[in-house]
Amino acid sequence: MDQDKEYVGFATLPNQVHRKSVKKGFDFTLMVAGESGLGKSTLVNSLFLTDLYKDRKLLNAEERITQTVEITKHTVDIEEKGVKLKLTIVDTPGFGDAVNNTECWKSVADYIDQQFEQYFRDESGLNRKNIQDNRVHCCLYFISPFGHGLRPLDVEFMRALHEKVNIVPILAKADTLTPIEVKKKKFKIREEIEQYGIKIYQFPDCDSDEDEEFKQQDLELKESIPFAVIGSNTVVEAKGKRVRGRLYPWGIVEVENSTHCDFIKLRNMLVRTHMQDLKDVTRETHYENYRAQCIQSMTRMVVKERNRNKLTRESGTDFPIPMVPGVAESETEKLIREKDEEVRHADRAPDSVPDREHESHQSSEQQEPSDPRDDRER
Ligand code: GDP
Repeated sequence: MDQDKEYVGFATLPNQVHRKSVKKGFDFTLMVAGESGLGKSTLVNSLFLTDLYKDRKLLNAEERITQTVEITKHTVDIEEKGVKLKLTIVDTPGFGDAVNNTECWKSVADYIDQQFEQYFRDESGLNRKNIQDNRVHCCLYFISPFGHGLRPLDVEFMRALHEKVNIVPILAKADTLTPIEVKKKKFKIREEIEQYGIKIYQFPDCDSDEDEEFKQQDLELKESIPFAVIGSNTVVEAKGKRVRGRLYPWGIVEVENSTHCDFIKLRNMLVRTHMQDLKDVTRETHYENYRAQCIQSMTRMVVKERNRNKLTRESGTDFPIPMVPGVAESETEKLIREKDEEVRHADRAPDSVPDREHESHQSSEQQEPSDPRDDRER
């Protein structure tokens, strides 16, 4: 019967989408956070099989006491079977290192907000074609295996960020725990996450028509939280095979052995099964929240300004940039000035919009949101 049907051709739509997105390439921004020394850099290298931390300088105790949380960004282009992925790792060295760690999550929260802000400005600007999207899609939060569950700093950090980013909790250095200890710790951490009202990233529910194997995998994934992981930068020989692992006098722990840790589960989740969902949730939930807040405060500012200047309508803030959390007052003024310039510029040259050039590959750079005026001035 089906053969008799006339063929229009929209069945090729998925192929068209596929071709286009492969051509364009993919990008993903992953943040790692948690006390230093918990194995964040080692895990990132193990996850993406690339040395992202070649130029890292380790600080001594004295330097670390005074160090503030500094945010670094490493970008690397990886390719697999013709599919390109621009991977950005945002690291937060110094987190939890100081003697007084009150509000040390603040610079991390500010960083995430600044990326949203940049995107919001680019999106409302003139050139929306080549927007560089630096929004953070996922934050792996490392929990120490040596404590009894979560520490106050962990609770504070996750609570401060859970509305801004997808948090995936990680139980670090799982090779220092016995399987029973891992089980107990996971249970305790899950309980505390619930008790303190921390909203970590929720894996989407499986559709009822999925096959049994998929449903089982999904269930296992949900029960693995927090992922107990082991990282290693070295390849060792185990049972005649070369594997990424850690060599101890009593044996070898293998990073990619699922009876030793959840590394494979974590990597599959991040790369194979949930990367797109992490991006969707970032866009649809976290960024939308930010955007709604911005628009709300913009409206409030406009109303306030109008009321103040009822007689003279020359306020110059008809389209003010909102006061975003974490951005100081002077910063807001700067934004308003930039927006005014942008509007003036638009009046003068409405159709000369230059394309934005792509960022350098394999770069290691400090946190510095690019100046949106660059586009307009080039
Ligand atoms: P970071 O400061 O959080 O980035 O931590 P690093 O990746 O620099 O690791 C700190 C130390 O912990 C290094 O000596 C690593 O070799 C070690 N390390 C990293 N991952 C693991 C792990 O899974 N298990 C154990 N036992 N040690 C680890």
